[in-house]
Amino acid sequence: MKRETLQGLERRESQVRALYQFPQLRQLFLELTLRCNEHCFHCGSSSTAREEGHLTTQEYRDILDQVKADFDIREIQLCITGGEPLLRPDFFDIMSYAHASGFHWGMTSNGTLITQETAHRLARCGMGTISISIDGLPETHDRLRGFPGGYALAMRGIENLIREDAFHAVQVTTVVNHENIRELDALFEIMLGLDIDSWRVINLEPIGRALEHPDLMCTREDYRRLFAFIMEKRNEGYPVEYGCSHYLGPAYETKTRDWYWMCSAGLFVASIMANGDIGACLDIERRPELIQGNIRTDRLRDVWYNRFEVFRRDLSADSEYCRGCEHARFCRGDGHHSWDYDQKGRECASRTCCSESDASHLKN
Ligand code: SF4
Ligand code: SF4
Repeated sequence: MKRETLQGLERRESQVRALYQFPQLRQLFLELTLRCNEHCFHCGSSSTAREEGHLTTQEYRDILDQVKADFDIREIQLCITGGEPLLRPDFFDIMSYAHASGFHWGMTSNGTLITQETAHRLARCGMGTISISIDGLPETHDRLRGFPGGYALAMRGIENLIREDAFHAVQVTTVVNHENIRELDALFEIMLGLDIDSWRVINLEPIGRALEHPDLMCTREDYRRLFAFIMEKRNEGYPVEYGCSHYLGPAYETKTRDWYWMCSAGLFVASIMANGDIGACLDIERRPELIQGNIRTDRLRDVWYNRFEVFRRDLSADSEYCRGCEHARFCRGDGHHSWDYDQKGRECASRTCCSESDASHLKN
């Protein structure tokens, strides 16, 4: 392992240990709705999601007041998600209030509802960053996301955002699976034609509704291809990056993104779900033992400081599987979103960290 890489991983490890003791809230996810106008095969949200029990406009205002009173909001980024957040009729009421209260915020969206007027309103209420999903060429994107015409609308949304010329960053996110990986090169050509700030590429995870599609999970060969693709584009100077998903091992850490990976759930990241439940990262399965409170009855500050121990630990210590793994010190059992909480026969969640010769614990 290169000395520089080892030093980087060691610095990250000591930072994580310090954060177990002294967590720092940096990203607060607000899931504004579970409703969506698309129906992605890998996502639990849908247009039929019920809105009963969703937090009200006034409750969001109260949450923002509470967070402002309890934390230094100059250090916090609000990350607005859904469902599709723009489906909420009071979206601009809530986000204008956040902006007037001094919050920095960004959003993930499917992009289909972003007309020029919407892009203008997003700029007026202070949105700094946005990530729009493009999951393949037009036919693939529309099929995977269950919405004919969705690709064209999302591309129109991206162009409207760029034309507005008011945002710190416009990003595209692509979830790669065993099928659409064939389209990466063609997608890259399309991205080149857009004036976006970055292209975030992540792999489909075997969680939630995606479990019904084992044929679409990336194989080991797909992972190799994906990371080779990202490294090639980065070497050529393009802002392509792998997202926050897994520890990738010395061969890929820092070559596929700008930072050494850590699972930030409960260390930098907390979330408030559409029904008020408080958890860490929204990518984590919503199991009762991982929901640490509800904003209707609990103060976020109390939950953050006193009830998040479940996220502030080295998962590898709990797993026979990880015990003895040479990567455990830096991987810590990988991300909470892929952790096998039922301990039903765990396989290594970290897909690529091992060399060809010692990769026997990888399934594919
Ligand atoms: S749960 Fe997964 S996506 Fe969330 S911070 Fe951890 S590794 Fe990243
Ligand atoms: S076995 Fe896999 S998940 Fe566990 S510590 Fe090693 S690399 Fe990470």
